[in-house]
Amino acid sequence: MKTAEQYWQDALIIIMSEMNDVTYQTFIKPIIPLRFTDNLFICSLTMDYKAYKDMIKKKYSAKIDSALTQVFGRDMKFVIESDLKENELNNESVNTYKNLRVKENGLRDDFLFSNFIVGPSNNIAHAAAVAVADNPGEDDTYNPLFLYGGVGLGKTHLMHAIGNHILQYNPNCNILYVSCERFANELIESIQYKKQIEFREKYRKLDVLLIDDIQFLSGKEGSQEEFFHTFNTLIDSKKQIVMCSDRKPSEIKTLTDRLVARMSMGLIFDIKSPDFETRTAILEKKAENKNIRIPKEILQYIAYSITSNIREMEGALNKIIMFARFNNRIIDMDLAEEVIKDTIRTSKSNITIDYIQQTTADFYKITVEELLSKRRTQPLTTYRHTAMYLCRKLLEDSLEVIGDKFGGRDHSTVMNGCDKISRLIEKNEEKAAEISALEKRITG
Ligand code: ADP
Ligand code: MG
Repeated sequence: MKTAEQYWQDALIIIMSEMNDVTYQTFIKPIIPLRFTDNLFICSLTMDYKAYKDMIKKKYSAKIDSALTQVFGRDMKFVIESDLKENELNNESVNTYKNLRVKENGLRDDFLFSNFIVGPSNNIAHAAAVAVADNPGEDDTYNPLFLYGGVGLGKTHLMHAIGNHILQYNPNCNILYVSCERFANELIESIQYKKQIEFREKYRKLDVLLIDDIQFLSGKEGSQEEFFHTFNTLIDSKKQIVMCSDRKPSEIKTLTDRLVARMSMGLIFDIKSPDFETRTAILEKKAENKNIRIPKEILQYIAYSITSNIREMEGALNKIIMFARFNNRIIDMDLAEEVIKDTIRTSKSNITIDYIQQTTADFYKITVEELLSKRRTQPLTTYRHTAMYLCRKLLEDSLEVIGDKFGGRDHSTVMNGCDKISRLIEKNEEKAAEISALEKRITG
């Protein structure tokens, strides 16, 4: 029987063919398939914000339902796990309930040590992760464990692997995987709704805290303060903390000295870009997990073409698989080359948010200050949204990061802006041509 993930991959081909890339990246990609019942396909979101969820439900759930119905060959409805009602849950089997428990921890059950490929670029970080997973909190040399490295090199995968490994041997261990952004958002909500005591209890009662992308504490004094206390409480009671970041603690801007010092108490390891053999092995593992046979030379070609980032490399593999299925073609070198050309173009370039803002401002003959200003007049707003849209399309940065760079706007503003432009492009050919001219100027 096919897994939820496999059904989802099939549905994606249909869904993707009906929307543009940015809409796909913004609204469909954050959806994680979890499991299914007779007529429900249950997913979670990598970012479970209300605005986000509402948008997906309102605008895309019909499309998703119909794609799922097509691939299952029976009526299927897409639901987001956090929306599931009690009685629906009770009707699910024990097995799927187990999945739910795992999900409450924030853990993804597909990121395991068993499918993590070890090579010279990550063997030390991997060894440290295994040591922690074997004896969480017990060895204070490894507490906290701090892993850092570039985007898409496996940090998040290792964190989930630690969590999953611990749960396997100690199902009652109170583990939480949380992104730093989520931590900060929960903190803000707890203050708004006067639930700070609950918030503290939740975090300070943990046995293992896995907190990801800690660089986002930068510039958030309130969160730093709260995290500092959570941190001390947990470490003092010999609970395990694992942190990940894209840089060392000392390089995270505006992090207070005392927090840097605390974070550096345990061990700090970096993950580097994997070499060719490791990249090929990772692709082999991914293809094997998807139950798809792909000639080795093609996997090597992907590994050779995309060197910086495993996520991107995996994305290229997925694209090739989908492209082949969708066009009813076999996966050969020609097809791989065709699909990969696009990916390389964006992954190798030096485009940044600043550069997109500058080029957009020049293009529309305004200043960057105007582009980023709070003024909401037309056509300024559309220019601003266009720049956001292109950041989203051409870069890997999250909605939060983009919003931050656009004068401290929040993720939902960016999301709405991107959505407006996506729709504009669909409706208005002239605008579409204009934006594509701008895009060409940016990508060179
Ligand atoms: P990061 O958190 O460092 O940005 P992720 O952990 O999200 O990166 O990894 C990106 C993708 O690459 C994930 O799908 C992950 O499974 C995969 N990946 C990274 N490193 C490895 C590895 N060594 N073996 C297998 N898959 C890997
Ligand atoms: Mg990550």
